[in-house]
Amino acid sequence: MAGAAPHLVEVFSSIQGEGPEVGTRTLFVRFGECDLRCCWCDSPGTWLRTATARLEMEPGVHEEVANPVALATLERAAKGIDLASHRWVSLTGGEPLLQVEAVEAVIDLLAGAGPGIFLETHGLQADALSRVVDRIDLVSMDWKLASDVRRADEPKNGRAAPFHAAHRRFLAVAAGARRVVVKLVITPASEDAEIDEALAAVAEIHPGACVVLQPVTPTGPVQTAPSAHRMQTLERRASRQLGDVRVIPQTHPLMGIP
Ligand code: SF4
Repeated sequence: MAGAAPHLVEVFSSIQGEGPEVGTRTLFVRFGECDLRCCWCDSPGTWLRTATARLEMEPGVHEEVANPVALATLERAAKGIDLASHRWVSLTGGEPLLQVEAVEAVIDLLAGAGPGIFLETHGLQADALSRVVDRIDLVSMDWKLASDVRRADEPKNGRAAPFHAAHRRFLAVAAGARRVVVKLVITPASEDAEIDEALAAVAEIHPGACVVLQPVTPTGPVQTAPSAHRMQTLERRASRQLGDVRVIPQTHPLMGIP
């Protein structure tokens, strides 16, 4: 079996807990390594590559395997959990596009088995995306706000350089995918000016994209969610310039599922 073997953290079957495909049965292929540090990140265990990955080989049956994970092992897991009964394969992380050759290999392996290919990405690696965009059914990119997110190599205390230019390049490439979702995670610290800049960029580059405003799930240093009034106000602002705006909180923490 050819192709670059992926460095993974875990592979498991669950219910999609966020975004417009919430509630759908999904196989999550979680890649290891991320070059950002979002203040609300609920999976810091993905920031660095790990020696082993945890794969669900049959419903509820997990195995710890060495990284990089052999494609044959991933294929065995996909068969064991009955991949065809899933709506989506989610390539998530960490940041999957930091391993674009492995992403290509996983798409080669799993596309065509029934589920659509769903890429969840921080939305900054435009060149990597251009290699796979025509094979992805849904690109779900984050639009990171510098008030809440820093690059791994930036100091912890201090304002990150804005992400808008890199997101603009990424979105222009993502527009070639069948569907595009742009997600903004909103915290009480998120600033109107950076949100407005993001919304204006989406309206200019890909006005058909679905924009999801996701109130943060309090975790780690983020103690509170934005108010309902704030989310209502932002939705109105976004809907004045975009045709498909949704406010969707994460649902998997409510249900206690991964
Ligand atoms: S991009 Fe994703 S994995 Fe990386 S720090 Fe942010 S939330 Fe965590």
